[in-house]
Amino acid sequence: MTPDVDAAMGRALQLAAAAVEWGDTPIGAVVLDADGTVLAEAANEREKRGDPTAHAEVLALRAAAQVHGDGWRLTGTTLVVTLEPCTMCAGASVLARVDHVVYGADDPKAGAAGSLWDVVRDRRLNHRPQVTGGVRAGESAALLRAFFRRQRGL
Ligand SMILES: [Zn+2]
Repeated sequence: MTPDVDAAMGRALQLAAAAVEWGDTPIGAVVLDADGTVLAEAANEREKRGDPTAHAEVLALRAAAQVHGDGWRLTGTTLVVTLEPCTMCAGASVLARVDHVVYGADDPKAGAAGSLWDVVRDRRLNHRPQVTGGVRAGESAALLRAFFRRQRGL
């Protein structure tokens, strides 16, 4: 069964919206196993934790590895995230052996799954996840726009 990435993105969008409550940029991530079961989910907690690496993807990948049952390897899994991953998170997806990275909005300022770099599909790496972008991108972009507008006090 192909995981229902649209529904998973819906959940990731809910997580993203929650991050605003503690002052973090609204980004959410869900990790699915090959059957589409949710292994882990997380929101951006960089401000909440005071941790520069606490991006939603990293937190979700760490939690998924705890339950996936193959050590650090997340073979067969799909990472669903509301915004195109940065270099760190794209790198983490490759290192975790994620099969498929699905993201919402493009990030022209920091995206590393095709916008600025393409870490995920770099031919020099021996593992290259499949990438699908643009899933419910409008909803993700709207959350981010509203957040930054509020931050500027508009
Ligand atoms: Zn990141």
